[in-house]
Amino acid sequence: YAKRHGRNNYQIYNTQIEGLSKTDLRMETLLHKAIDKKEFVLYYQPQYDATTHKISGLEALLRWNSKDLGMVSPIDFIPLAEETGMIVPIGEWVIREACNQNKEWQRQGLPPVPVSVNLSLRQFYQTDLVEKIELILKETKLDPKYLELEITETIALQPDIAIRVLNELKSIGVLIAMDDFGTGYSSLNYIRRFPIDHLKIDKAFVQGIQQDEEDRSIIATIITLGHNLSMSVIAEGVETEEQAELLKTYNCDMFQGYLFSRPVPAEMILAMFK
Ligand code: C2E
Ligand code: MG
Ligand code: MG
Ligand code: MG
Repeated sequence: YAKRHGRNNYQIYNTQIEGLSKTDLRMETLLHKAIDKKEFVLYYQPQYDATTHKISGLEALLRWNSKDLGMVSPIDFIPLAEETGMIVPIGEWVIREACNQNKEWQRQGLPPVPVSVNLSLRQFYQTDLVEKIELILKETKLDPKYLELEITETIALQPDIAIRVLNELKSIGVLIAMDDFGTGYSSLNYIRRFPIDHLKIDKAFVQGIQQDEEDRSIIATIITLGHNLSMSVIAEGVETEEQAELLKTYNCDMFQGYLFSRPVPAEMILAMFK
């Protein structure tokens, strides 16, 4: 919901339905049936090691292929799914599907890499989150080190809970990435205490890297901060060679963006490793 009102708005759990249009209500009805109708699909976007240029990870990105609405972008239905709580079953489907798919790729002999899944705030605060993830890993027989969970800075609004949950997640062996870093509620004091493996620089900064000196200094600062806290840093939304070159001069560890690949259906991943 917050995203619809701009990235820097933190009314995460706005329970009022003001702003919900008729289309939203129609969308809500359709969204309720989407899991059963098997209308969700995961696309995967490769992440590349900046030095070896090998695929170092795959981010799972949700798509809703609605019979009634056509292809719906996550930007358009995740906020609604969050508001209504539907994000919990949807998110669980996403984790299970991504783990199954990653295990399947490993069975086919692909070099094992982590699959990253985006966790919404609401999911993150579910009391049985860690238990559910453990169960999914057991069911799918995926080694926990090949699952990464992406969270955003908004979890720092409840820092004590966040630290506890993150530590529990780390103790089962999964990886943690901080997504969209630099756009949200950043408190360096908390970032330092969060057990994070990967820091993802938001694409807004990457896209300004050539024209905007301030974006360049922010990027350089984020990369140094990440490295000093023993995290590796990944740049999102890399679209041009020039951006990739500049990011390399700042020692960015990994790249993700249209320059390398758009998010693609699972079937296309095999070919991308070749
Ligand atoms: P995100 O996690 O920050 O994902 C990156 C978004 O940037 C994706 O948009 C991706 O397609 C897009 N992107 C990648 N490379 C480039 C590039 O070079 N240029 C530009 N302009 N964009 C690029 P997408 O797939 O539309 O997803 C949007 C957001 O929806 C995600 O942002 C994430 O916050 C959310 N989302 C996606 N899947 C899930 C999910 O399974 N669960 C939850 N809770 N949220 C999800
Ligand atoms: Mg993400
Ligand atoms: Mg995000
Ligand atoms: Mg992001």
